[in-house]
Amino acid sequence: MRVCFFDIDGTLISSGGAGQNAFAHVFGTLFGVDQISTDVSFAGRSDRAIALDLLRAHGVEPSDENWHRFHEAYVDRLPSSLHACDGTVLPGVTTLIERLMATDDVELGLLTGNVVRGAEAKLVHYGLWHHFEFGGYGDVHTTRDDIARSAVDAASRHLNSAPNSDSRFAVIGDTVHDVRCARAIGAYAVAVPTGLTPMDELRAAAPDLTVETLEDSATLVAWLTE
Ligand SMILES: [Mg+2]
Repeated sequence: MRVCFFDIDGTLISSGGAGQNAFAHVFGTLFGVDQISTDVSFAGRSDRAIALDLLRAHGVEPSDENWHRFHEAYVDRLPSSLHACDGTVLPGVTTLIERLMATDDVELGLLTGNVVRGAEAKLVHYGLWHHFEFGGYGDVHTTRDDIARSAVDAASRHLNSAPNSDSRFAVIGDTVHDVRCARAIGAYAVAVPTGLTPMDELRAAAPDLTVETLEDSATLVAWLTE
């Protein structure tokens, strides 16, 4: 089993702030929050963890009920936020996906803090969703390590085989959280500074490979296919 797990925001796409825009809109309409707290970090974290932190930060009970209300309103709002914000598919992504899909025995998955319907909305908007048949998402888990483990479980179900000593996983992401969660599943960590985290900060997390953009894909493809 050889699986390349991709992060979404800052790695495959920049949504131009559509996610945060939708978060802010929903916190305004559902919870009366004029401006969401800047003390809560978004990058590399699960939607569930971000939403629960924001609820606490604004004195709203971080209950399952409030999470579910948030989730429904957020995924309803996201498509219009995506249209309103000026985002893009990041450099090299389309070619890298094509190269990996043309490679025998390499499967593509997602490993993202987005809720699954949020991931779908973002990647449908940018024409990439159909490439990904399984993944780990931020609906249930609040830590990225747990999302990584659920992504491996999803790959095993999809491919109908359990990981073994020949299995190779790579996690490609733009934050230190992506690098760290690769360790939780014994994966090769590829860091790319196309999100908000500068290269020196990514290097300090000791990924196996850093690339300036995903245009620089040869090393990754070679490692996965050797
Ligand atoms: Mg990211």
